[in-house]
Amino acid sequence: MSEGSRTVGRMSTAPLETVDLPLPVVGSLSPSRAGDFMTCPLLFRYRTIDRLPQAPSSAAVRGTLVHAVLERLFDLPAVERTPESAAELLAPEWAKLAAAEPEVSALFTDETELAQWLTSAKALLDGYFTLEDPRRLDPAERESFVEVVLPGGLRLRGIVDRLDVAPSGDVRVVDYKTGRSPGEAFEGKALFQMKFYALVLWRTRGVVPRRLQLMYLGDREILAYSPDEDDLLATERKLLALWEAIERATQARDFRPRVSKLCDWCDHQAFCPEKGGTLLPWPDVVPAPDEAEARHLEAMQRAAAVD
Ligand code: SF4
Repeated sequence: MSEGSRTVGRMSTAPLETVDLPLPVVGSLSPSRAGDFMTCPLLFRYRTIDRLPQAPSSAAVRGTLVHAVLERLFDLPAVERTPESAAELLAPEWAKLAAAEPEVSALFTDETELAQWLTSAKALLDGYFTLEDPRRLDPAERESFVEVVLPGGLRLRGIVDRLDVAPSGDVRVVDYKTGRSPGEAFEGKALFQMKFYALVLWRTRGVVPRRLQLMYLGDREILAYSPDEDDLLATERKLLALWEAIERATQARDFRPRVSKLCDWCDHQAFCPEKGGTLLPWPDVVPAPDEAEARHLEAMQRAAAVD
């Protein structure tokens, strides 16, 4: 039986045959939405249920731009994948991004500020080339959409930056980060996203990825991990428990704020009681369990493919 399906029998006088029907989806999670709830349930509510808009930040847009350049880099013949080629891709990829999302141009007051920002993006790309040589790589997939529906109906999905497959069949999952690598105490949280992808790949393709690799371009560090089936089963249990907690919070209309240093980057402090703000009333319309996540993924896909 295929993943994300259930098999039922049809009663007739003919010999019993089976057909695959889609599993009813009860909810949907991506790594970022799961991360939101773990960071702060109220943040999850405002982003996913209330769907409050988030102002683009220059750091987030720079991340999108650097990802776009690294994806395009592998369109070039291997020998041309150099730091100079990556730098040349910056301007055209920025033009595509600005055309697709005109509001990002407003982040910069003048050409000088934009030029400085593009220089900071180039520094991140230079950092990439200190970590690996793309001339020696032949990625199997880039910006790959992965998805599975678990037997209970929870849909997991996300976009993997890069998948490398060795001649032996070993799979490496690669994710680029434009920030700095986490301290030791936060490595587990960083790897959670990668285990999420590994779980989806295992459930859909039957192969446990050999290596999960986070590449931090901000400080030119790699965080790598080799998962096993027990790791991925534990990740699955954690996600199911997380979804149960989200469902309970939704039924109770009770998403508690959880203060952390990440509050400094939260767009919703004005509506957060922990920050002196006023809690928004529960929205009249709550998105269907799958709808909010689908919109989030669509936005991610648009950002990932801004041509
Ligand atoms: S300010 Fe902090 S506690 Fe409040 S909603 Fe945002 S992340 Fe949560």
